Amino acid sequence: MIANVHDRRSVEKIYLREAFDFDAGINSRRARRARLAASASGHATRAEEGFVKDMREHRIAAIPADGIGKEVIAAGLEVMQAVEARDGGFRLAVETFPWGSDYYRKHGVMMAADGLAALRNFDAIYFGAVGDKDIPDHVTLWGLRLPICQGFDQYANLRPTRILPGIKSPLAGRGPADLDWVIIRENSEGEYAGNGGRVHRGLPEEVATETAIFTRVGVERIMRFAFDVARSRPRRLLTVVTKSNAQRHGMVFWDEIAALVGKDYPEVTVDKELVDAMTTRMVLKPETIDTVVATNLHADILSDLAAALAGSLGIAPTANLDPSRRFPSMFEPIHGSAFDIAGKGIANPIATFWTGALMLDHLGEKDAASRLMRAIERVTASGIATPDLGGRATTREVTAAVCDALRSANT
Ligand code: NAD
Ligand code: MN
Repeated sequence: MIANVHDRRSVEKIYLREAFDFDAGINSRRARRARLAASASGHATRAEEGFVKDMREHRIAAIPADGIGKEVIAAGLEVMQAVEARDGGFRLAVETFPWGSDYYRKHGVMMAADGLAALRNFDAIYFGAVGDKDIPDHVTLWGLRLPICQGFDQYANLRPTRILPGIKSPLAGRGPADLDWVIIRENSEGEYAGNGGRVHRGLPEEVATETAIFTRVGVERIMRFAFDVARSRPRRLLTVVTKSNAQRHGMVFWDEIAALVGKDYPEVTVDKELVDAMTTRMVLKPETIDTVVATNLHADILSDLAAALAGSLGIAPTANLDPSRRFPSMFEPIHGSAFDIAGKGIANPIATFWTGALMLDHLGEKDAASRLMRAIERVTASGIATPDLGGRATTREVTAAVCDALRSANT
């Protein structure tokens, strides 16, 4: 008995010693696991408990970048602070990076040369949007967002879509019960692999190629991820979007691997839909859809449509995940920098808040994530909305309302 207590104490000491290593900046990830383990072991002394509790920390790299990205990330960080205060069990250590188009104008690059190394030790990245009127889109996108997604192998892009309470879908007579989807986008290869080139530049015989790349590893891992998500949802229904009638190499391969992986998930119902037919099904029969997996290009397009059907691009969130957790994952609204409304203070911050809930969930803060979702839904249901949703509220007003809802909620 005594020996047992003694053993436990020495185990705790090891946990806590590792946690102190964190202070010395030795190994943050290992130390965090140690803190959680010490906390879960339930044997810490009162003083140690205070220490352990204070120390449940998540390191967030914020990259607001361009246009309304700056406005919505500022709002998102304010809401994150309110969630943190309401929860009391964790701390977010946020560092903001000045990368983006303004940085490009000063330094000739979208992000610092050692940018990925700087982000590497964060637990998550909270990203706004890139895009500038005066800089070509492929320069901004390939200079900042894609290097992060690809460098950190964030191969699974998760896009939940729902009609939130109080929000009017452009689909006549449709409400929250008719549309509750998760779209999963392959995020590391396919049509956006960046494979191709231009020959005879500027001459009449100029040629450009853009070759989609589908690898067995790439397709199989996104299918497994999609089947896992489908299985975790009540309907256990996965729609595999394809275009294998016209694209007889990559898309036939895609279908074959989907069928192969599906054998490991007998409890999931699978149906196959051509991408063009999928657009009409989303509009005409939204209730027949649950979880969807599609290629990088197809899901990019379908999820903008999904966002519009759910009410606005301004509410749609996304998570760029490295499910293996070797690297930090990145959380962002799906919209861009919106030149037309940037600087006006009317950007809808709901997508960024919802994205924040996905981030909290990924960090293991499940209670905080669902509390934030409930606060968002209380605000949308109350009719406080920015102009994109037909309302007159500003970004600040929606942000204040969500913070108030968080503070006043008793659960
Ligand atoms: P966009 O998403 O910026 O805007 C499309 C339309 O939706 C605009 O009318 C805009 O006002 C509206 N909108 C978008 N988000 C809104 C919000 N939160 N609240 C209210 N209204 C909102 O797309 P775009 O106009 O095609 O692109 C603008 C720039 O953003 C381009 O440079 C593009 O490359 C870039 N972009 C970046 C990302 C990203 O960083 N992930 C995504 C898409 C577009
Ligand atoms: Mn897009």
